[in-house]
Amino acid sequence: MLERGEVANSWRSERWDSLRLLTPNWLSRLPGLRYQGPDPDGYMTMGEVTEFIERFAVVSHAPVRTGVNVTSLRQAGDGYHLTTSGGEIGCRAVVIASGACNQPSVPQFKAAVPASVEQLTPFDYRDPAKLPDGGVLVVGASATGVQLAAELQRSGRPVTLSVGEHVRLPRVYRGRDVLWWLDASGVWGQRYDEVDDLTRARRLPSPQLVGTPERVTLDLNALASMGVELVGRWAAVRDGHALFSGGLRNMFSLADLKMNRLLGAFDEWARTSGYHAEADPPERFAPTRVPSSARLQLDLGSGEIRTIVWATGFRPDYGWLDVPALDAKGQLRHEGGVVDSPGLYALGLPVLRRRRSTFIYGIEDDAREVVDDLTRYLAVRP
Ligand SMILES: Cc1cc2nc3c(=O)[nH]c(=O)nc-3n(C[C@H](O)[C@H](O)[C@H](O)COP(=O)(O)OP(=O)(O)OC[C@H]3O[C@@H](n4cnc5c(N)ncnc54)[C@H](O)[C@@H]3O)c2cc1C
Repeated sequence: MLERGEVANSWRSERWDSLRLLTPNWLSRLPGLRYQGPDPDGYMTMGEVTEFIERFAVVSHAPVRTGVNVTSLRQAGDGYHLTTSGGEIGCRAVVIASGACNQPSVPQFKAAVPASVEQLTPFDYRDPAKLPDGGVLVVGASATGVQLAAELQRSGRPVTLSVGEHVRLPRVYRGRDVLWWLDASGVWGQRYDEVDDLTRARRLPSPQLVGTPERVTLDLNALASMGVELVGRWAAVRDGHALFSGGLRNMFSLADLKMNRLLGAFDEWARTSGYHAEADPPERFAPTRVPSSARLQLDLGSGEIRTIVWATGFRPDYGWLDVPALDAKGQLRHEGGVVDSPGLYALGLPVLRRRRSTFIYGIEDDAREVVDDLTRYLAVRP
């Protein structure tokens, strides 16, 4: 196992200070290692996640070689050849587990933003104190965007949040963490070959959730109540102005509709599984409030906005992969982790084999099945 940094590198070096997992502690489980502390319903800090993964490396006896950066992987004869910062390596098969979120994904019109405005990605952001005073435009309203918008607004900086397609969820539903419902009802267990639109499922934005000791819901209504100004999806920059799409009303209704459909599916599952009587009564939440007049443009040169935080998602970095296995969008072409190149496998990608593959605890079943495939591959090629 080659790791360019330390074990748990992404949690140590690519996250902001206040981040906690949005998955509760009882969901933090890896093969043979479960959370056993006093707060199963809590959410791990970055220090705790790092310790948890370090512990897993020890208990699983993972043969990790840290500080080894893979700079090239290419096919060689029946196998592969790797060039690394620690030397050359030949092997018969490779599992790519380099992550799905190696770099922030930022729209190209970033280059047209006036130089007077500071621009940050979640990889650069650590805490509000590092930002200049003044207004902040947070772009993207998925988990990262809503969390950073709330933190920056609380720091006293006026925040404008540009909202595109998003997934709204309450933190707690009928007395249980909403992720308990996704897990228990089987939604997260749905296999990739049963998902209607797999490409879409793999690109679905992360849900508007935050892990806090108070288990608060952090949806757009909560942000608007804090004073965050909501504007539409940022479409372009023209003459130093950010132009936002209209249609917030439609976008909000769509997110509300999808949330209600999902809650309806939970209620249905509760009825058929017998859990209904045990749970609190079904709930429905107030629709997302549409601002009376959302701004359609913002003068980036006026001084109103001093900082832009791009919370527009993440993408993998396969700059080191010299095997023609990427699609036009730079994503790995694979079927349930079996890459389109003999002897090459992948783990840790969204909806790899199941909806839960996107999360830490989704790895167990995926890893077993992908390793089974790999073992069969090696068995017929002695
Ligand atoms: C902001 C954020 C919040 C998240 N919150 C949660 C959450 O609350 N709960 C949850 O379950 N999941 C969460 N996730 C998803 C979570 O990151 C993944 O489920 C999990 O980290 C995947 O683990 P991984 O080992 O596959 O990838 P990573 O954690 O990305 O690890 C990949 C490793 O590969 C190394 N690497 C990459 N390229 C090379 C190379 N060329 N040579 C050598 N080493 C290399 C990296 O240094 C890194 O350590 C979150 C993701 C992000 C980005």
